[in-house]
Amino acid sequence: MEPPSGLNFIVVDDATKENVVAAPTKENVAAPVRDASCDKPTAFTVYEGFVRHINSERSSPLAMNSQQQHGKNNKLHRLHCCIKNYDWGRLCRDSLVARLFAKNSGSQPNEEDKPYAEFWMGTHETGPSFLLDGSEGSVTLKSWLWENPDVLGHKVVEKWGGDLPFLFKVLSVAKALSIQAHPDKELARTLHKLQPHVYKDGNHKPEMALAVTEFEALCGFIPFEELKDIINVPEVAELVGTENVNSVLQITDQDAEKVKPVLQKVFTELMSASKEKVTGVVDKLRSRLHKESQVRQLTDKEQLALRLEKQYPADVGVISAFFLNHIKLAPGEALFLGANEPHAYICGECIECMATSDNVVRAGLTPKHRDVQTLCSMLTYKQGSPEILHGVPINPHVKRYLPPFEEFEIDSCILPQGETMAFQAVPGPSIFLVTDGEGMLSTDTQEGVVVTQGDVLFAAADTEISVTSASELHLFRAGVNSKIFLDA
Ligand SMILES: [Zn+2]
Repeated sequence: MEPPSGLNFIVVDDATKENVVAAPTKENVAAPVRDASCDKPTAFTVYEGFVRHINSERSSPLAMNSQQQHGKNNKLHRLHCCIKNYDWGRLCRDSLVARLFAKNSGSQPNEEDKPYAEFWMGTHETGPSFLLDGSEGSVTLKSWLWENPDVLGHKVVEKWGGDLPFLFKVLSVAKALSIQAHPDKELARTLHKLQPHVYKDGNHKPEMALAVTEFEALCGFIPFEELKDIINVPEVAELVGTENVNSVLQITDQDAEKVKPVLQKVFTELMSASKEKVTGVVDKLRSRLHKESQVRQLTDKEQLALRLEKQYPADVGVISAFFLNHIKLAPGEALFLGANEPHAYICGECIECMATSDNVVRAGLTPKHRDVQTLCSMLTYKQGSPEILHGVPINPHVKRYLPPFEEFEIDSCILPQGETMAFQAVPGPSIFLVTDGEGMLSTDTQEGVVVTQGDVLFAAADTEISVTSASELHLFRAGVNSKIFLDA
């Protein structure tokens, strides 16, 4: 394997999660290599990162002892974060992810036509954040937390061990993500055991998307009345077959529990259709809708199907979109997804938070691995519109989004120019992200850390953060769901 070129990479030892070398070479990238000290094969992973800083600031990450170096731990720590260039991301110039990454890394993205899809803040191994303020050098947030578990607060350590339970992200979506669902804890463990190369985490992945721009998604199954309508869409009927169409039309009792098995059978039939059959049916749908659009206004779903067909021609996801709720979030509205709920983000930009995991079961709108059988058997088949969160004001400038999951919550703060406010101390860790404006963050042991767009800061448990704005400041905070501290 050829090492990546350029300076913008970091090499991390997969066993210890430490950075072991500042620049990749043919030797250290070609995993596994031999570790002389223990004579065991050692794997290395290369991340896009911040070698520029490492070279100038790092001595030996293994010699770190933060307790000694910092005394009190309620100091804010700047994080440098990774991005993902998935092909559904927005191109550089239109991407909030690209802007944040440029500011966060202090380097201009030089590939104008590259998609910048996700900005990751947290400890997940496939996109870790690094502490780069002063003497910590280039230590991963994960290894630093491991050395300093007290910054997580005792309740978090008790519950989740010495790691951050949540992963914080920004998404810039240009075209639809795959139709997917995330397994619950039990299924996640089983999938990880059976197919560790596909399902890399044994953890569940509840998630929440908070819209920054208008944000579109497909989420959960449509209510029963709509199901009765769409089953008559000729191309849907052709794919699922007459018998399935009839069993939907024959349902008289709308009891959700009784509809579920029928819906499961219909959806599984649809998703399992052969590639050949799907190609033909999607073609028919496209030409029919183009013709009919001359004489009538297409429905919202029909318009969406045409958009998806352009992005993913001949994909079963174009047809299965008829079965899911098409949600349009306004900025400031949020959507949360529990285990085993089908969804696909379609377009827009959002702040996202989830349990630390990357487990995805995909079945449509994707060139990636599909696992139709697992997806169709794991879904809850719950019907109806999802709940939309608008955020609960916790002070005049901050709204809190509390999903029904223990791992996380998001605060959204817009502070007008020249004002000051405080985030009260909480017994768990926080990550702050500045998406716009300029200001200053302070703690009782640390005077004014100047912040601007792209800055990401880690704050330890039990730290009050005071915020002052130099211009209107847009700030997001991810933390552990505060409900878990109520019954302490
Ligand atoms: Zn998802």
